[in-house]
Amino acid sequence: MAWLSVLNRMSTMYRVVKWSQGSNEVCVLCKNASESRSHLFFECNFSAQVWEFIAKGLLCISFTTVWSEIITIISDKTREKKNLLCIRYAFQAVLYALWRERNKLKHGDKGLSLDVLKELLKRAFVTESV
Ligand SMILES: [Zn+2]
Repeated sequence: MAWLSVLNRMSTMYRVVKWSQGSNEVCVLCKNASESRSHLFFECNFSAQVWEFIAKGLLCISFTTVWSEIITIISDKTREKKNLLCIRYAFQAVLYALWRERNKLKHGDKGLSLDVLKELLKRAFVTESV
């Protein structure tokens, strides 16, 4: 999934409307902008808060919500190994959680609140790293 995102091959609504005209292009997480990859990851207000909650401590002053900058960071082999591993793990975990959440909302299911989603991710992170 992360690889598809890097290639911009995810079925974001920004792409879907190009082959399925009349589809609703609006982001279901914030209902405030076109759902492009860079919006969903992590310019969207909802996504940005989840990403910040998980990644800010790892990225410190290099924290960003800009897709291209994040890709540069996770591709930087000069970064300290453990830190890089954690950032990559956080990136994939947040990407997956947001995409799952987006799909739930897209199919009419009830979404999780921002706080619940953050808590679930935090728990996944703590459990995995112990
Ligand atoms: Zn949004």
